[in-house]
Amino acid sequence: MKKKNALCILAGAGPGDLGLVTLRTREAIERADVVVYDYLVNPAMLDWARAEAELIYVGKKAGAHTLPQGDINALLVAKSQEGKTVVRLKGGDPFVFGRGGEEAEDLAKAGVPFEIVPGVTSAVAAPAYAGIPVTHRDFASQLTLLTGHEDPLKPESALDWAQLAKTPGTLVFLMGIERLAEITKTLIEHGKDASTPVALVRWGTRGQQETLTGTLLSIGGLARERGFSAPAVTVIGGVVGLREKLRWFDNRPLWGKRVVVTRTRKQAGELSGKLRELGADVLEIPAIEIQPPNDLRAFAELVRDAHMYEWVVFTSPNGVEAFFEMFYRIYGDAREFGGGRIAAIGPATARKVAEYRFKVELQPEQAVAEEVVKAFDAEMTVENTRILVVRPEVSRDVIANELTKKGAIVDEAIAYRTVPATEDRSGVLARLKEEGADIVAFASSSAVEAFLDLKLPLPADVKYASIGPVTSQTMRRLGLKVAAEAKTHDIEGLVKAIKGL
Ligand code: SAH
Repeated sequence: MKKKNALCILAGAGPGDLGLVTLRTREAIERADVVVYDYLVNPAMLDWARAEAELIYVGKKAGAHTLPQGDINALLVAKSQEGKTVVRLKGGDPFVFGRGGEEAEDLAKAGVPFEIVPGVTSAVAAPAYAGIPVTHRDFASQLTLLTGHEDPLKPESALDWAQLAKTPGTLVFLMGIERLAEITKTLIEHGKDASTPVALVRWGTRGQQETLTGTLLSIGGLARERGFSAPAVTVIGGVVGLREKLRWFDNRPLWGKRVVVTRTRKQAGELSGKLRELGADVLEIPAIEIQPPNDLRAFAELVRDAHMYEWVVFTSPNGVEAFFEMFYRIYGDAREFGGGRIAAIGPATARKVAEYRFKVELQPEQAVAEEVVKAFDAEMTVENTRILVVRPEVSRDVIANELTKKGAIVDEAIAYRTVPATEDRSGVLARLKEEGADIVAFASSSAVEAFLDLKLPLPADVKYASIGPVTSQTMRRLGLKVAAEAKTHDIEGLVKAIKGL
């Protein structure tokens, strides 16, 4: 049965750099019920999809099709006809060697309404990120885009090689990097100058972009030696020589470095952005997620009664946030907190308390539970004192136990639960496991803790960079070696420290 709202959007996902996705494609992803995507689509953009959206991978790595083209077309038609908005994401531009034309034909035949969103094609963008303009007044007034899939040695080849050898300007081949030797040999045999410059650009516009240059004569051998594999574009022509002058993307200070950033709070975005600008291949890994406690009602009741306690002890910034969020959901007036005094386990927790304009009156020198108890001892006798300890579901009970032993009347408010963010929609955890990393950057103690909670496998020689002494201390306490510490304790300083590694 056909439903009314059927729609299929064939959208270009660009060559890989997230900044090269069009606004139109991003909107399409954000509203999609179903996203059907390819091997060449940067999976990080799947994070833009709604949590309920169905994500279907139909990717093909060279040679190994996971789903034949006919089945992909049928899938698009079927999902659309369920009345869903289907976004068919295709690397680069959907109509440049992406078989998007065939998909559109089948949608048209089935009567499914469709839209096309052109994309930035790798044929132009990958050379651009290697510092090669595909046209230039002095070198090329003509650009020819070709598929490298055609076997030039077969008489039935769809390309006219004799004609191509004479074609002036720039030739850009997509696909078929494994046929490079035959292609270059055939062009030379048909009279193309063997000294014509050639560049291969692999994973163009991404952090792992690689470029190899040579001549029509040498490039086949060089590519074989280096094991240069797909996905890559081949650029043939005088414009390749401009790379020497115009190289800009793959010569920046952090080029070739893979840096892991833990995505906690807002800082991560700023840090990743700065690192990417310097050329780093940044893996933003999802940190732990904060979820409400299992017994939310019990927590709410304790927050409501907070004014009955002489002391409220906070053991983490997240606890402070959960507490005050609940508090202001119950009360519209800060004075309902009553006259209780506030203790914080450490500076980060104290800062969070200050954000809510409450004063911390007790804070140990070292941010550990035992020290909180000692700080109380130094301050007063806790006997018969009513104390509320705000803490996560799983944590050591040291504070409550020790204070109770000393005669205090202690209640524990279980404020939240931490769960590791294991969902890996954007494929970043898989990439980290496969490709490893050079540097892990920590912008806060909580980022260190969140990162270690994920228990990710890392190469032994990975280097850890810290934003400042407090974060470094947490790192050392948890067994990490600090390879670099920022001189000024901000994102700018951390980036500088990483540059120096
Ligand atoms: N529609 C796509 C091309 C699809 S054909 C586009 O417009 O870019 C697949 C080929 O595109 C690959 O074999 C490779 O030659 C090229 N390609 C796609 N993304 C690439 C990238 N990031 N870097 C280099 N080549 C890429």
